Amino acid sequence: MKSVLKLMAGAAILVSVHTAAMAADLVVGVSWSNFQEERWKTDEAAIKKALEAKGAKYISADAQSSAAKQLTDVESLISQGANALIVLAQDSDAIGPAIEKAAAEGIPVVGYDRLIENPAAFYITFDNKEVGRLQAEGVFKAKPEGNYVFIKGSSSDPNADFLFSGQMEVLKAAVDAGKIKNVGEAYTDGWLPQNAQRNMEQFLTANNNKVDAVVASNDGTAGGAVAALDAQGMAGTVPVSGQDADKAALNRIALGTQTVSVWKDSRELGKRAAEIALDLAGGKTMDKIDGVTTFEGGPKKVKMQSIFLKPEAITKDNLNVVIDAGWISKAEACQGV
Ligand code: BGC
Repeated sequence: MKSVLKLMAGAAILVSVHTAAMAADLVVGVSWSNFQEERWKTDEAAIKKALEAKGAKYISADAQSSAAKQLTDVESLISQGANALIVLAQDSDAIGPAIEKAAAEGIPVVGYDRLIENPAAFYITFDNKEVGRLQAEGVFKAKPEGNYVFIKGSSSDPNADFLFSGQMEVLKAAVDAGKIKNVGEAYTDGWLPQNAQRNMEQFLTANNNKVDAVVASNDGTAGGAVAALDAQGMAGTVPVSGQDADKAALNRIALGTQTVSVWKDSRELGKRAAEIALDLAGGKTMDKIDGVTTFEGGPKKVKMQSIFLKPEAITKDNLNVVIDAGWISKAEACQGV
């Protein structure tokens, strides 16, 4: 009996030595949709840093806005030996087969920032409905009535509809009361600022420039909308929202041509995602991840294990929040003011 116990203790020691060594050997593959917005390089740096801190290896691929390339990117990350994947999906539906392949090979997947509605993927993001609410609140405070236009995100990104539903939640009462009129609403293909600008130009033309407020879904599209307003001499007179706390947007806020951005500290999102990927690769089950909640709010109502971080509205009144957090310098934010 004694010798059996001794043997068991020896095995336990062996197992724990093995698990500690494993964390350092892990490879995490990150599939990026593109690096179009400034934020994604910040996300990337945070993921890299968190992996390095644990001695794990970062490998990555950039799909350059191609849903088809992203499928082969994921396959290539798997064949390069990824033990876990982090995926920023270009197209939430098109990415499906890649997730199935990873799941079939027992490789955990973290759906990063954008929902991949498959229970095999963990979901980490900021509360996107709340982002939408903060955008609408910022604009509504500045203009509680009049003609509103909605520059939505990319239709292949579920965040576009989460944002819009948050925006409408805030504005519904005023719309129902006839105080606010929705005079134009369009998705922005690929989240491209030039597409946002074109949509905004069309809304201005269709309404003889009688547009009183613009709810734009991120800072890139806000930039496009502001360019269209500027061409009509209207920049700074019409409130505009955004999100991401891009440097150019924070400067527009300081200058008064954008009303609100929504800051999502992607340094934190990247760090958490990297740690979760390592935990899952090390054998932790999704329901045991720190702070996990279940989410069933996607279009297919799939029950997902998820984590939501909290976004924060940034206006002229609290620009110091992002300056104090080391997100942007005062000189950059206030350039030309
Ligand atoms: C992200 C935003 C980003 C947008 C375009 C969304 O899914 O949540 O932060 O601006 O994609 O990349």
